[in-house]
Amino acid sequence: MFVSGYQKLHDSNELQNRIDLAYELLRKCRICPRECGVNRLEGEFVSHANKELRTKRSNIGVCGLGKDVMVSSFSPHFGEESPLVGRRGSGTIFITNCNLKCVFCQNDDISHLGHGSTVTLEEFAGMMLTLQRQDCHNINIVTPTHIVPQMLSALRIAATNGLRVPLVYNCGGYESLETLKILDGVVDIYMPDF
Ligand code: SF4
Repeated sequence: MFVSGYQKLHDSNELQNRIDLAYELLRKCRICPRECGVNRLEGEFVSHANKELRTKRSNIGVCGLGKDVMVSSFSPHFGEESPLVGRRGSGTIFITNCNLKCVFCQNDDISHLGHGSTVTLEEFAGMMLTLQRQDCHNINIVTPTHIVPQMLSALRIAATNGLRVPLVYNCGGYESLETLKILDGVVDIYMPDF
């Protein structure tokens, strides 16, 4: 029987250690290679479109997210690579904003313009569990890099409540080594979609 990486770490209590390490990185944010150094634990959401506000606020980094997570949508998705889609779809959760900000982004309403709503960690976990109940083959977090601590926290809640399908880290590929070490063994499938 398949056992996901996050589930093994959850069972050994290591997942909580990873969460603590990841949240520490938010204090002077170095979650990604931009190393903005802002205190995201006190930060608030600013979309990429609002450049003026982003330059004014000292606790806003390039990705424009603070402590909270914003989600644009979640659903079974059939447009991903076929091994992820299978017959019942990949359980995608689209995260608002991005740390990479490609000028050619096909999801620019989400990644640049900030479309989405703030969700609690419990709601984030609930989306994962809903997608599993809908028989998706995996949980596919789209653009997770700038919210790794929150993703790990939501995973812990979801794992406690029975999440077991593989976790896909569907990122832009602009990752820091320190964060990747925290993720080691948690993520089942990496999809760096540069
Ligand atoms: S995650 Fe955001 S705030 Fe943190 S270093 Fe990267 S772009 Fe800057």
